[in-house]
Amino acid sequence: MITTKTKLVAILGDHVAHSKSPVMMNAAFQDKGLDYYYIPVDVAADDFGDVVRGISKMNFAGFTITMPYKLEIMKYLDEIDPVAEVIGAVNTVKITDKYMKGYNTDGEGFVRGIERDGKVKIQESTFFIIGAGGVARAISAVLASRHPRMVYIANRTFSKAEELCRKINEKIYDCCVPLPLDQEGQRYIPMVNVVINGSNIGMKPYEKESPVDVSLIHGNQLVMDVIYQPAKTILLQVAEEKGCQIINGENMLVYQGEIAYHHWTGIDPDIAVMKRALEVSRE
Ligand code: NAP
Repeated sequence: MITTKTKLVAILGDHVAHSKSPVMMNAAFQDKGLDYYYIPVDVAADDFGDVVRGISKMNFAGFTITMPYKLEIMKYLDEIDPVAEVIGAVNTVKITDKYMKGYNTDGEGFVRGIERDGKVKIQESTFFIIGAGGVARAISAVLASRHPRMVYIANRTFSKAEELCRKINEKIYDCCVPLPLDQEGQRYIPMVNVVINGSNIGMKPYEKESPVDVSLIHGNQLVMDVIYQPAKTILLQVAEEKGCQIINGENMLVYQGEIAYHHWTGIDPDIAVMKRALEVSRE
């Protein structure tokens, strides 16, 4: 039953009709008996500022921001968490008495999956990240904050990989090496413990492609993808055939939901309930 007392939470974006966050978060709110409700809201670019200002004045605990507003939102906030500042994007906002604070949970969400499900000890491991866009930036910044042995960042546009590595090495921890996403750059793949696809390659319209030469993957590696539609990208399919442990992007969705839930409610959700809600939504 939704009343004027119900705390609202929204996902704001351009096309959020297919977002799985509402089903996952509402199941987790209900499970803990919280009077919270999560709604998807499509927002046109011209209306974004008005929508955010309006939300700040209503009974919202906060909201999630998705494409294409993760940068735009920053100018409306009262405070930005330092991790989000380094990443340069905000995807979660907490509202307390009209005061809006922005966070970035993409990287922390992904890295929790590496630690909890991949059972990887980050300080003892080396990583190869494909991509230097928003999500890859978030993952590599949080990974660096855990002091890994080495993080190779390979991107189609090499200058973006260079810029990202320079920033992380200066501001967080000196562990990143930029690479081009060509044959020369990819020769580092067999040497790492964890391979992470943080690019769009593997989802539509690139669902028949792998971002790297899959013959370089070997069975002792953990292979992860930020993509969850399809559930197994070509990269993950081949890695699984080779005996690798694989983790898709749904993990990141769940763990970043866990972090956001804590910001909005002050308590932790039951992860199993969130995973189950996603499973049911697929059936
Ligand atoms: P983005 O900022 O646009 O970055 C895209 C990245 O992919 C860039 O590094 C880009 O390289 C690379 N790329 C794009 N097309 C390419 C091509 N044809 N060949 C080689 N590289 C290519 O996007 P993003 O926000 O980081 O999102 C990346 C992925 O994360 C998307 O698939 C998105 O669905 C997924 N995602 C997942 C979650 C989750 O919860 N699991 C959350 C958010 C996003 P250049 O720099 O050279 O352009």
